[in-house]
Amino acid sequence: MLKEEAREKVSHVVTRPGRKHGDADVQIPVAEALTTVPGIPLKEEDVAFYSRVYPIESQNIEKAADREWVWTVYTEDILKYRTRHDELNEPLVSAAAVSGNIEPTATAEQGVDLTEMIRLKGRELGFGEVGFTKFDHKYAYASKKRWVKYEHTICLALEQDYAQTQSIPSLNAEFAHFGTYEIEGALALDLADYIRSLGYHAQVHSPNDNSGAYIPMFVAAGLGQLGANGQLLSPHFGSRARLAMITTDAPITYDEPIDYGIHQFCQECQVCVNRCPGRALVKQKVWWRGAEKNKLIYERCRPVMARYDGCGICMKVCPIQKYGMPVVMKYYVETGGEILGKNTDNLEGFEFDDGTYFGPGQLPQFDRQFFEIPHGTKSDWLFEQFKDKLNDNMPSTEEIMDFAVELKKIVDEGHTTRGDE
Ligand code: SF4
Ligand code: SF4
Repeated sequence: MLKEEAREKVSHVVTRPGRKHGDADVQIPVAEALTTVPGIPLKEEDVAFYSRVYPIESQNIEKAADREWVWTVYTEDILKYRTRHDELNEPLVSAAAVSGNIEPTATAEQGVDLTEMIRLKGRELGFGEVGFTKFDHKYAYASKKRWVKYEHTICLALEQDYAQTQSIPSLNAEFAHFGTYEIEGALALDLADYIRSLGYHAQVHSPNDNSGAYIPMFVAAGLGQLGANGQLLSPHFGSRARLAMITTDAPITYDEPIDYGIHQFCQECQVCVNRCPGRALVKQKVWWRGAEKNKLIYERCRPVMARYDGCGICMKVCPIQKYGMPVVMKYYVETGGEILGKNTDNLEGFEFDDGTYFGPGQLPQFDRQFFEIPHGTKSDWLFEQFKDKLNDNMPSTEEIMDFAVELKKIVDEGHTTRGDE
């Protein structure tokens, strides 16, 4: 029995629906020492400024060069599996892209708020988290700003298999990762059908063809807070979930952001930061485009993800993912501020495909060359390669023609068609 003085003082208790539809509500005690703000600290005028002057863009476009490159370094198994996944997923992504144009299939009953009916249906379909907020155009990708048709957003999180995820990094964990996307894409289309049957429009934002940064809207809808691993930490499964959204003109009431204590908890936990093999996660929070967050270094993550079965170690080692927020926060309170699982093999250990095991404090070493990957859009990368040629000699007429043909191909195809990961 722990002494009373060892306990942390509780600031507030968050009550959330149980993990699955029909489960009892859960309580999450948030220690006084962990309270900051509901959601995430924001400077709204800065968010608006960056969105206006430097709008964000999809990785499908902005990072197209390395997204193509990953296919050249995948293991044979991953290559085969990803190809199959893309084939299966393509019809779901295409259906979502035009879903906003489909007319309702019934006449709406006037004056009825549909929030709880849609939430219930979403939970019945299997979504672990369902929340409501306004579609915030400040987080929309430049290429998608005009695509979004309706102002209300339904945020949907689908849990990914627990056991498979604990085997990260592995092909088995990739089955869970991409398999969840396949299920989610289909379930979101089903939920949209349901909304149309209530007399309203519904536009599916595919989890594989994102319309913008989804996490800020999930945080606004009270479904979790942003973790130091750059992922949404929601109450039951942390970041072990895949995210999709539906925008609609159905009458709904917005949820509110919540302070689960995660913003500060991550500063004390730091497990993902310490365990990241690419050293892509940083200890200190910074103000980035108007939000205070731990900013991931993309160029140090991508080469690891590409070569080690999608990596995802930052998801696997997160105590919120592994034990759930109610257990972790209760433990923090009762032990006077300890992080459940920190420094244990059970939480922090991981194994590469070749059988090499890394326990707490152990990390693989990669040389500088490992991190050299193509940068930017496909045309950025083509120009970079052409410039390198100029360093050696003047290119031949044939090389100039090859360059022009490749560039024309990129211009003609517009955006890359590979799905989001
Ligand atoms: S996916 Fe791997 S390399 Fe990338 S941030 Fe997470 S732990 Fe680091
Ligand atoms: S591992 Fe710890 S620091 Fe990283 S996201 Fe999870 S709770 Fe936050």
